[in-house]
Amino acid sequence: MFEALNERLTGVFDRITGRGALSEKDVAEAMREVRVALLEADVALPVVKDFIAFATERATGEEVIRSVKPADQVIKIVYDGLVEMLGGEEPVPINLNANPPAVFLMAGLQGSGKTTTSAKLALRLTKVEKKKVMMASLDTRRPAAMEQLATLGRQIDVATLPIVQGESAVQITRRALQAAKLQGFDVLILDTAGRITLDEALMAEVAEVAAVSRPVETLLVADSLTGQDAVRTAKAFHERLPLTGLVLTRADGDGRGGAMLSMRAVTGLPIKFLGAGEKVDALDVFDARRVAGRILGQGDIVALVEKASQELDQAKAEKMARKLAKGQFDLDDLAAQLDQMKRMGGLQGIMGLLPGVAKMKAQMAETGVDDRMISRQQAIISSMTKAERKKPDLLNASRKRRVAAGAGVEVQDINRLLKQHRQMQDAVKMMTRGGGKNLARMAQAMGL
Ligand code: GDP
Repeated sequence: MFEALNERLTGVFDRITGRGALSEKDVAEAMREVRVALLEADVALPVVKDFIAFATERATGEEVIRSVKPADQVIKIVYDGLVEMLGGEEPVPINLNANPPAVFLMAGLQGSGKTTTSAKLALRLTKVEKKKVMMASLDTRRPAAMEQLATLGRQIDVATLPIVQGESAVQITRRALQAAKLQGFDVLILDTAGRITLDEALMAEVAEVAAVSRPVETLLVADSLTGQDAVRTAKAFHERLPLTGLVLTRADGDGRGGAMLSMRAVTGLPIKFLGAGEKVDALDVFDARRVAGRILGQGDIVALVEKASQELDQAKAEKMARKLAKGQFDLDDLAAQLDQMKRMGGLQGIMGLLPGVAKMKAQMAETGVDDRMISRQQAIISSMTKAERKKPDLLNASRKRRVAAGAGVEVQDINRLLKQHRQMQDAVKMMTRGGGKNLARMAQAMGL
């Protein structure tokens, strides 16, 4: 999978590698080619658009890391964009928190690999999580499917619910819950019936089974080789069932990869596992970084840029720590912090990192400070003169009126910002009083 995409992207990077500097035009041209590469890989258009907007902003706004070649920085940005598109850095763990049995409901179209995935999951939960697992097939219309699950169960030494003819899916579910509880199983995997296409009866049945069994995980199994059809299927299922995650099968196949790349953004659901073969142990925990690394095949460069940018952050933090230690924290520093806040996922993301800021956070909430305000505050600071930013005391009433008019806000917004700045100065002073030993760390956390 991803071979064609890898080839296309490698071509894009090759064309810009070796250049001393990249102009905005070079970046725009590279992004255009990345866009075509993603569309050819069958990634959904809105997802491609978001990706290109993200990457272009980063590539043109990114501060130059001097020790890194511009082309390498672009590679890293594309890598970061792919990781983001695939759901972020950390794999989303499966949930096993329930009074036993924790129910796993497996949904999906017939032939998607649902039954095989149920067995793969059972094996994993048994071997890795050391759980006692039972499986039950709810496919009342296809006795062969029930037999298939029983055979797989014998193969991997996992119990399956004895087959009783003539029961409905909900009746089997109740019997399975009862049996799992009485026999002390930790996990019950319910393999629901699949259909060739989506239909209302199937959806109603799965929804009822979910209502009766209250699963901790409701996983949709989708065939990654079916491209955007898989994405549409996932969306349709999610409208009827509160899915908790996705399993994409046939990741070992030679698909273009568009389903995997679009799934997360279109459905909002995390991909939890990849099916990577027909064998029962061919199930991989989904890791966005690994997949992005495989797509780009530029692992060394990504690691190199990451290291350089950490070093830059560290150097900046140390510089800021020295400033802070002298009690200097002017409005330019606040502007830098606001910018970093935005990049770190807004106020919530950064404030939580700061010691002693909980109180300020509450105050900010009280005064109506939210993420929209970050942009407003940035506008205010940029409407000030350099001297005003360095020495906020200069801001008398008439200067405040000028700044307010420039930023399109009220004078009271300026006052609020100045108050916030004073509070931060106080927080800084409090920190420095302790000898400033954590200062570099704090400065880094503040994004300074
Ligand atoms: P179900 O109808 O959704 O239950 O699908 P099955 O579990 O019966 O799988 C259909 C076929 O796909 C079987 O031949 C499986 O061996 C195969 N299969 C399932 N998952 C994978 C996978 O991740 N990779 C490959 N190559 N084949 C798979």
